[in-house]
Amino acid sequence: MVNLNEKVAIVTGGAKGIGQAITRELAKHGVKVVVNYNSSVGSAEKLIAELKEAGSEVYAVQADVSNLEQSRKLVEETINHFGRLDILINNAGITRDKTFKKLSEEDWRTVIDVNLNSVYNTSSAALPHLLESDAGRIINISSIIGQFGGFGQTNYAAAKAGLIGYTKSLALELAKSSVTVNAICPGYIETEMVKEIPEDIREKLISKVPQRRLGQPEEIARGIIYLCQDGDYITGQQLNINGGIYM
Ligand code: NAD
Repeated sequence: MVNLNEKVAIVTGGAKGIGQAITRELAKHGVKVVVNYNSSVGSAEKLIAELKEAGSEVYAVQADVSNLEQSRKLVEETINHFGRLDILINNAGITRDKTFKKLSEEDWRTVIDVNLNSVYNTSSAALPHLLESDAGRIINISSIIGQFGGFGQTNYAAAKAGLIGYTKSLALELAKSSVTVNAICPGYIETEMVKEIPEDIREKLISKVPQRRLGQPEEIARGIIYLCQDGDYITGQQLNINGGIYM
């Protein structure tokens, strides 16, 4: 079992929703966390103040991870501040749901840039440092939508499915190193992203979940701890945390 105390993690989009829960859980386990945010400065400042007050070592870095230069700067600032990097959580993501007929080129490209191209940006910058760790981790937050598709979600599904292929391929390439690469595929989790779905549609979605409820962000965060702490022999996998909606 890996001792997480004193390890250093970057959580992209780590100030809100699932990312915030991941930040909290890692900090609770003694990990020093860089909380990346793009526009959520208020949420980031509040979270940092609260976690520092509780004795955790956390640091916020503004960066748009769809931009390569800013992603490199995010990793550079992490190294400057904490001196090492062990865990990269690629969590930042957006939706721009529209049926394909109505989807603009910009809707397509923006979602692919933020949800998929960002992972090239952060991982390529982080990899040299992760390889120096005795238990490096890359964990990509994909989605059930990348596994079974979603109406009005061609852009999002393409990006999230892309993350799964990327996870397996990079895991193969790094299998002989100490870095594991895995994806977590959440089902419907109670965050702002899901609260944006109109209530009648949301109720229909919940009725399709065998466990008949939304998941909580903390349930994803505990999956992250499992992969970081007990995951030495787990690589190239998709951890489905979804109430049984996709098996
Ligand atoms: P959220 O909107 O609450 O959080 C997303 C975070 O990403 C926000 O903090 C946002 O500021 C950040 N972000 C967006 N664009 C960014 C950028 N360019 N650079 C840096 N940060 C950026 O959503 P969430 O529900 O917490 O989603 C987190 C991840 O989980 C996403 O990748 C999402 O696709 C995935 N996911 C969510 C659900 C769900 O039901 N909520 C299900 C499956 C997968």
